[in-house]
Amino acid sequence: MSEFEYAPELIKFSYFIAAILFIVGLRRMSAPGTAKGGIVWAGFGMVIATVVTFLTPGMENYWLILAALVSATVLAWVSGKKVAMTDMPQMVALYNGMGGGSAAFIGAMELYKATNGHQMSAIPTSLALIGVFIGAISLTGSLIAFGKLQGLIDKRYTFPGQNIFNGIFALAVIGFGIYTFTHMEAMNLWIFFGGALVLGFLMTLPIGGADMPVVISLYNAFTGLAVSFEGYVLGNWAMIVAGMLVGAAGTLLTQLMAKAMNRSIANVLFGSMGGDDSGGADGDQGEMKEIEGADAAIMMAYAERVVIVPGYGLAVAQAQHKLWEMTQLLTENGVDVKFAIHPVAGRMPGHMNVLLAEAGVPYDMIEDMEDINPQFKQTDVALVIGANDVVNPAARDDPSSSIYGMPILETDLAKNVIVIKRGRGTGFAGIQNGLFFKDNTKMLFGDAQDAISELITGLKEL
Ligand code: NDP
Repeated sequence: MSEFEYAPELIKFSYFIAAILFIVGLRRMSAPGTAKGGIVWAGFGMVIATVVTFLTPGMENYWLILAALVSATVLAWVSGKKVAMTDMPQMVALYNGMGGGSAAFIGAMELYKATNGHQMSAIPTSLALIGVFIGAISLTGSLIAFGKLQGLIDKRYTFPGQNIFNGIFALAVIGFGIYTFTHMEAMNLWIFFGGALVLGFLMTLPIGGADMPVVISLYNAFTGLAVSFEGYVLGNWAMIVAGMLVGAAGTLLTQLMAKAMNRSIANVLFGSMGGDDSGGADGDQGEMKEIEGADAAIMMAYAERVVIVPGYGLAVAQAQHKLWEMTQLLTENGVDVKFAIHPVAGRMPGHMNVLLAEAGVPYDMIEDMEDINPQFKQTDVALVIGANDVVNPAARDDPSSSIYGMPILETDLAKNVIVIKRGRGTGFAGIQNGLFFKDNTKMLFGDAQDAISELITGLKEL
């Protein structure tokens, strides 16, 4: 029998309240207006679950646990305050990896006790082993994902027959896990653990940087599942519920991201997009045509309809407030302005919605890709700010492009296109963008803050 069954009713009740808070928090996170509050609700649930866990009968090492809690809280607080919005995916990767690693170590320690004669029946043993396996993969895989997004690892590491090699290695680790189940000895356990850690490295090294957010979300789902399994082993309901919620949310998010890029999850894991391979429209496409800020301002001021497409560069420049100021000047001039959001613009789902909400852009000015695309033909000016891959026509027109099949915002169909970016560099997928060379496209080179300031000055001078 697990200790939990002897635990006071207060613990059970508190875990129940915590589970409700997690669910309500998640629900509130689904809309921009309530998302911040949702995080507070879920965080409150986590505080309750953590505090009551100290009441668990038979718990030891209070001071060690407290020291870990306090130091982790300080570290998380400082890093959470300091991290730039654009660096959020790698921070999530790091934290997620630590969650997966913790679940794997919890499982390993429970199994280690079993190697010393501690009774453990078949179901907890198998769940602990599965938790060790996926938690360890999540730990090393997330560390590689962090390294890639942070720019510490700048390449995809591939070799011929890699998928087959990785497949055989994965089968060998799983096979050894089954052997460990039947021969529960410390040495077997640590070899199995080590094999799963190596598998996480091997699986993630060949995946390109552009796919990392999807991979992080997948490992997030893995971590949730591992925590949930280890929760069963420990008899801890809070871990089971929280782990399942993370697992389900991570799985849905992974599917949503893959769908928005029109890729299967298998293609993300075993395909080859992003990083150092380009593919597609990289040949000579002609000259980019430049425009001055003042001329671009005139073009927009006399337009009937302007559609603004924000991308990763807007987040880097933190120019969302300036953008809103410019938008207000345009609407005062009688221009119909809309914002078009691509689901994978930026570096995490909802990135652009968060930026625009931060600047106070009303929701009714924001349109989803499916709704705005049919409207581009009637749009006088499409203003692309720091977006690249999500407006690349190669994804629609060029079957040889590595982003072929990803739905795009069809700005190239607008009567005029103005693109704000700093230079002639490519987007995250590393491929050239034919939009920038089209006759009806003009480039306004510069940091988004400066370029939008120029537009504001131009509009005020009219
Ligand atoms: P991209 O990364 O394709 O392009 C961003 C552009 O912004 C660059 O071309 C860069 O050009 C420009 N830029 C950078 N900094 C600035 C600045 N300070 N001022 C002005 N421009 C700037 O971004 P997109 O949003 O178009 O596409 C997102 C990419 O991320 C896609 O490939 C998507 O698949 C991938 N991705 C996104 C996920 C998500 O959930 N959002 C998940 C998985 C992948 P320059 O250097 O010349 O300035």
